[in-house]
Amino acid sequence: MSLGEDSLLCNFPKCRAVLTGFAWVTACSHAFCDQHGSGEFSRSPAICPACSSALSGKLDIVRTELAPSEDYKAMVLAGLRPETVLDICGRALAFWTYQVQQERLFQEYSLSRVDAQVKQMEKLLSQQNQSRELELSALRGEISSLKKVMEEYKRKYSDVSERLMERNRQYQKLQGLYDSLRLRNMVGERDGARHAPPKYNTAAGRPGSHGGSPPFPGCDGDRLFYSLDTNSADGFFHFSSPPAEKGRPFPKKH
Ligand SMILES: [Zn+2]
Ligand SMILES: [Zn+2]
Repeated sequence: MSLGEDSLLCNFPKCRAVLTGFAWVTACSHAFCDQHGSGEFSRSPAICPACSSALSGKLDIVRTELAPSEDYKAMVLAGLRPETVLDICGRALAFWTYQVQQERLFQEYSLSRVDAQVKQMEKLLSQQNQSRELELSALRGEISSLKKVMEEYKRKYSDVSERLMERNRQYQKLQGLYDSLRLRNMVGERDGARHAPPKYNTAAGRPGSHGGSPPFPGCDGDRLFYSLDTNSADGFFHFSSPPAEKGRPFPKKH
């Protein structure tokens, strides 16, 4: 509850209870709840707990009923001269105004304290944000450099796999050529067994053939078989598996 609801608050430090029923009011314009008033002002000499004023006068402390009865209101100022009545009313209103001003100052002070706390927290938050931002940008830099490294590795990998595929193609080509040559050689052996053997003996020395030296070591696969025709291939493989021996019966055995 606040003063906006037409009630005063106890001025005892940190009490701030809404005053209802009876209130203790002082000559120094302070008001207290029944609990704090009866506790504080039972001692002698009485000291105001809000402003430490000495309250020694007979009417310096008054316990007053906040909602007086109609009878009381009808009689309390009766018989007094109008200026006295107005004087009393003026002083009572001054008391109320002072209390309202004090409360407003208190609220303003609280507000400024909360404001300062908010500003402090905002400052802290912005500092934290700044450091997070820095961390984030450092991490982003790290990520981009790692990406670059990864790209480099990818490029290397694709180069290597391309080279491997090229090697595989060459190998397959060579394997195909080798297989076809072996097949031809086998066919040649079969034919050679049926025909006269001297033809194969001279085939190795023909022009265009590779003669007696096997061309495999250090030779490119394509070039190796490029110039081989059927006869020269026969001549080449003549050395590894002479058809004459295989095709012939073995008369020497047994
Ligand atoms: Zn109180
Ligand atoms: Zn006081």
